[in-house]
Amino acid sequence: MSQGVMSTGEGARIFPDVEACIDCGGCVVACKRTWELPPQEQRISIATMFEGQESQGMNASSGKALNERSFPGETSIPMQCYHCDNAPCVSVCPTDALQKNGDGFVQVSDDLCVGCQYCLSACPFGAPQFPEADDGAARIFGTGGTMDKCTMCEERQSIGKGPACAEECATDAILVGSASDIAGELDRRGSAPAFNQQAMEIVFGKQEAKVFDR
Ligand code: SF4
Ligand code: SF4
Repeated sequence: MSQGVMSTGEGARIFPDVEACIDCGGCVVACKRTWELPPQEQRISIATMFEGQESQGMNASSGKALNERSFPGETSIPMQCYHCDNAPCVSVCPTDALQKNGDGFVQVSDDLCVGCQYCLSACPFGAPQFPEADDGAARIFGTGGTMDKCTMCEERQSIGKGPACAEECATDAILVGSASDIAGELDRRGSAPAFNQQAMEIVFGKQEAKVFDR
């Protein structure tokens, strides 16, 4: 198992170590291959900020700098559904197609989704995808098709495996474990969370987000 995968299953969280990400796209490929996603669909993407303005080497000290709103140089952030504690997508979905389940996974029920794309506007991390938005039905009914996003590889976790993206990341830039596992690992590496306090509270909830205050 990858060194970034510390524990799996109920209550496990997924979170990037932005300072370890080298923008290789391995996670994107691992996810697409594992879930046989069509070419136009991606459940994880790498957001690159300050492209071409690398200052101290790839992603060096980016987390702390982003947090302090200072200039971090070129920074690559693996973006996916972080299965937020206070999931904004769940609160805006008019049909209850999105649910944060007791085991910690944010799931979408295909049969309830009407493709209104409210979740797309609400998610700060760009997780919801609408791969069918261009198909015939979507054109006729004016919907975005059915929403798809990262499932955190729930099926793999249920048999003790890690999420494919995390398992295959060459630099262990995608961490999986409890909030304290993740905070401890970031600490050990000398990395800081890339997101500000508000985003951390969305992802982990007010209480759990405190374990990242060091
Ligand atoms: S697109 Fe589907 S999942 Fe998203 S808010 Fe609308 S009904 Fe809910
Ligand atoms: S956790 Fe699984 S579904 Fe989510 S991005 Fe990683 S590989 Fe894809």
